[in-house]
Amino acid sequence: MSDLKLCQGPECHTYHTQDRLKGMKGSKTYQTRRRSSLNYGEFCDTRCQYDWLSKYATQAVNHFGRLKEVKHLTEENAWTKTYDWDRNYENRSYIYLNGITKEQRPLTEEQYRDNNYTINTGE
Ligand SMILES: [Zn+2]
Repeated sequence: MSDLKLCQGPECHTYHTQDRLKGMKGSKTYQTRRRSSLNYGEFCDTRCQYDWLSKYATQAVNHFGRLKEVKHLTEENAWTKTYDWDRNYENRSYIYLNGITKEQRPLTEEQYRDNNYTINTGE
């Protein structure tokens, strides 16, 4: 079992699907799914992802750091890139849109595609 990844869903082996049923007649078992790549990160599907989250979310949050106060997205940092189509849906015009003030500023297509380009001032 060289490069196969095991689904990390704690209940994966309990779901009755044909692809999980393996082994010789008389000694068949439902088994955790193995894949060369898993579609949902560490999990084979959203059910297994949800099972893990239900079981371990509190431990994970405590381990990585619990949010203890409300976060704020300020006007200075509420800019998102977006675009509008023209009347005939032929050309896009790229803009920065402020989600709080609704102010718009023009963007070039190059600025729109540049993931490092931002006018947000920080966290
Ligand atoms: Zn699974």
